[in-house]
Amino acid sequence: MTLPLTYLGHPLLRQTAQTVTVSEIQELAFQELVAQLLITLTSSNGVGIAAPQVGQSLQLIIVASHPNPRYPHAPAMDPVVMINPWIVHHSQQVEKGWEGCLSVPGQRGLVPRYESISVEYLTPRGSQEQRVFNGFVARIIQHECDHLQGLFFLDRMEPWDQPISEGEYRGMNNQLNPLDLSLSDPR
Ligand code: ZN
Repeated sequence: MTLPLTYLGHPLLRQTAQTVTVSEIQELAFQELVAQLLITLTSSNGVGIAAPQVGQSLQLIIVASHPNPRYPHAPAMDPVVMINPWIVHHSQQVEKGWEGCLSVPGQRGLVPRYESISVEYLTPRGSQEQRVFNGFVARIIQHECDHLQGLFFLDRMEPWDQPISEGEYRGMNNQLNPLDLSLSDPR
């Protein structure tokens, strides 16, 4: 079952999400939420999602980069579920890249993010992990962690960089990469 998305303007998306305890992780309702969040992410051509985007104020994100019509050049990876994610280290190097958001339909923005991060989080089994991520996947994680603090990519943009429409973004992308023309969004 896909879950209904919340959008920019929904008050929950401006709140700090609640941390999740190990005993809550083991509850069936939480495990079902994780499964439904993954289905919702996949069916909406997203590369990442945070629980507040489906109306749950919980520190839960899923990162699942893969090439799709919204992000044709995204690297492929197995989905990673992160509970109470925390960026413990980051590179000094910052890179700007284009982002969109399932909760901000039709807009893209150029956002500066750390090139490399080390994230500590709990897995759906309740064990603690720490992993290093780089490039686009590090970007997704920073974007999703921001949702847990009530922030949007729009808040991270330089004041002189304005968001652009999805249509303009795709036109620009197709000029740079003619092969993308084969990947039109079914919607
Ligand atoms: Zn988002």
